[in-house]
Amino acid sequence: MDAALSARVGQISESPTLAISAKAKRLRGAGIDVIGFGAGEPDFATPAHIVDAARRACDDPAMHHYTPAGGLPELREAIARKTARDSGFDVAPEHVMVTNGGKHALFNVFQALVDPGDEVLVPAPFWVSYPEQVRLAGGHVVPLPTTSADGYRVTPGQLEAARTSRTKALVFVSPSNPTGTVYTPAEVRAIGRWAADTGVWVITDEIYEHLVYDDATFTSLPVEVRGLRSRCVVVNGVAKTYAMTGWRVGWSIAPVDVTAAIGRLQSHLTSNVCNIAQRAALAAVEGPLDDVAGMRRTYDRRRHRVHEMFSAIDGVRCPLPGGAFYVFPDVRQRLERPVAGRTVSSSLELCAVLLEEAKVALVPGEGFGAPGHVRLSYALADEELEEGVSRIAAVLQ
Ligand code: PLP
Repeated sequence: MDAALSARVGQISESPTLAISAKAKRLRGAGIDVIGFGAGEPDFATPAHIVDAARRACDDPAMHHYTPAGGLPELREAIARKTARDSGFDVAPEHVMVTNGGKHALFNVFQALVDPGDEVLVPAPFWVSYPEQVRLAGGHVVPLPTTSADGYRVTPGQLEAARTSRTKALVFVSPSNPTGTVYTPAEVRAIGRWAADTGVWVITDEIYEHLVYDDATFTSLPVEVRGLRSRCVVVNGVAKTYAMTGWRVGWSIAPVDVTAAIGRLQSHLTSNVCNIAQRAALAAVEGPLDDVAGMRRTYDRRRHRVHEMFSAIDGVRCPLPGGAFYVFPDVRQRLERPVAGRTVSSSLELCAVLLEEAKVALVPGEGFGAPGHVRLSYALADEELEEGVSRIAAVLQ
């Protein structure tokens, strides 16, 4: 490590999901036919009415200058209306803070709530950025392991067993990245009640709210447990729902004093989010959900196909996820066995062999706090999906 770096930044590793997709892109650029299952992003283009709104914003001189750090007032209002429409959570615009994506919203929230030494409960497998962001705020990450056998669900009993006098917050996400797990309304209620009773804050990530399948339903914690509202922060954004990962617009919804504190932080950090992207996000959250329904049907078809193909591979346990666009197969039974003539002893090594031999890029479970697993995003074209999983199966047979 370069001695010039601060200890704070020195301890942070690159996002493994971004690193894998960058590697896959590099190999493709070098003419190698790599199929990338790494990136957690829709393969669709952003719907046309949203792109048109951005074009119009480019022509509006008012959008060429600084605007309020907390977001365009009309966007904050629209996010409040959209939240009531989609999850039933009634909030006022002053609870809303517009950010450079959900990732930035989460960073702000940890900075605003977590002091050095505070403990933050993070159910594992977890999305890669939660622990790093908690650590950047000086917090201590307490991972709570869950397994494929329990559907990757944490229980109030497990939360209570991990609680100490330093426990500040729980990070909750349903539908989940990386597992696709969707908690039932009763499970959400039980976790919300535990938090309300114990005084632990909940940072709840709703970014995959519209991507639920079969009889799974999305449930918002502060709607299910009203008593939690004074200690709950909702994080959301347009990236996954509207195929807008590149536009970088997300938001947090928090008690007014927390939002005001985040506003002060953001005023020194980023100022306003790009106005053109904010106008696009406005068109997205105010517009119809028809495009989203179409994308969901496509993901659903791919979800079944990838699950079916993985389930046929010997020694791989692949639960059928209820939401998001990931599968998270458990490959522990494939370890310490020959793969392409080599013995692999970790999911990290397995992914390296699959990249080399099958030319497919998967993300090893290590980055998600779940060694022995791999994550695949099925947000890629049907033919690629089919070809990629067939190549994996051929190497693992
Ligand atoms: N939360 C989860 C669980 C995610 O999977 C992602 C993106 O992968 C984000 C938040 C951040 O999304 P963005 O910053 O693109 O809005």
